[in-house]
Amino acid sequence: MSSNHSVAFVQGGSRGIGKAIVEALHHAGIAVAFTYQKSKEQADAMVHALQKPDQPASILAIQADSADEQALQIAIQKTVKAFGHINFVINNAGYLALSTIDQIDTAEFDKTIAINVRSLMITSREALPYMPNGGRIINIGSVNSERIPFEGGAIYGMSKAAVIGLTKGMARDLAPRQITVNNIQPGPINTDMNPDTGEFADALKQFLPIGRYGKAEEIASLVMWLISPEAGYMTGSSLNMDGGFTI
Ligand code: NDP
Repeated sequence: MSSNHSVAFVQGGSRGIGKAIVEALHHAGIAVAFTYQKSKEQADAMVHALQKPDQPASILAIQADSADEQALQIAIQKTVKAFGHINFVINNAGYLALSTIDQIDTAEFDKTIAINVRSLMITSREALPYMPNGGRIINIGSVNSERIPFEGGAIYGMSKAAVIGLTKGMARDLAPRQITVNNIQPGPINTDMNPDTGEFADALKQFLPIGRYGKAEEIASLVMWLISPEAGYMTGSSLNMDGGFTI
C-alpha cells in the first residue's frame, strides 16, 4: 500500500453502524482495518465480499475486545503493519447495559466505561504516532448523552456524555496538527443493538418526529463527510443525527 493511500481504522466494524462505516470507507477507495469481538463469521464474510481478487490487500479484520487495552494496541500495530499508516480512526464499538440504579452491577459499570470511553482514548493514542497531520478521529457517541426517556439507561447515558468531554479535549490537543476530533450522536438506528421491531421500538418511535428509526448507512454518510477536506474546520463537535429525538 503506497504512502499516499488513505487508511482507516474502525473499532467495532462487523455489524450495524460500524459495518456500514467500513463499507462506505472501502467503497471510497480507502483501505480499512476493523475490529470485532465475537462475530468472526460476519467479519470474514465482509473481507471476502470487499477484497477484490488480484488486488493488494485493502481490508483487514482483527479480533480485539475493546475492553482489552493490549488487544487494542496489537490491533493498531497490525493495521500499521498491513497498511503503513492511519489517516482516520473511527471509534464505533459500544456496549449497552440496561439496569436501574438500585440494581446496577459495578462490573457492568466498569465494562461500560472500558468499552464506551476508555477504548476511544486507547485507540486514538496508539494510532497518533502513525497519523499524518490532517487526519480525523470520529467517535460514535449517542443522543442518550443528553436525553434518556426510558428507565435503566444511567450508565450508558453517562458513558456517552463522557464522550462529549473526551472529544472536546482531544480536539484541542490535536488541533495544532490539523487532526479533527468529532462525536457523532445517533438517535435510534435499526441494528442488532436496537432493532426497529424490538421491545423498545414502539416507545422510542414516540420520540421521533421523523417517524422512523435511522439507518446505519445514514450515520456512515456523516462519517464520510467528516473525513472530507471540506470538514476540516469542524472539530470538538457533537453532531446529532437523530430524526429529531433531541428536539
Ligand atoms: P451493534 O451491537 O449492532 O454492533 C456493535 C459492533 O461493535 C459490532 O461489530 C461488535 O462486534 C462491536 N463490538 C461491540 N462490543 C465490542 C467489544 N467489546 N470489542 C470489539 N468490538 C465490539 O451496535 P450498533 O451498530 O447499534 O452501535 C454502534 C455504536 O453506535 C455504539 O457505540 C452504540 O452505542 C452507538 N449507538 C447506537 C444506536 C442505535 O440505536 N443502534 C443509537 C446511538 C448510539 P461483534 O460483532 O464481534 O460483537
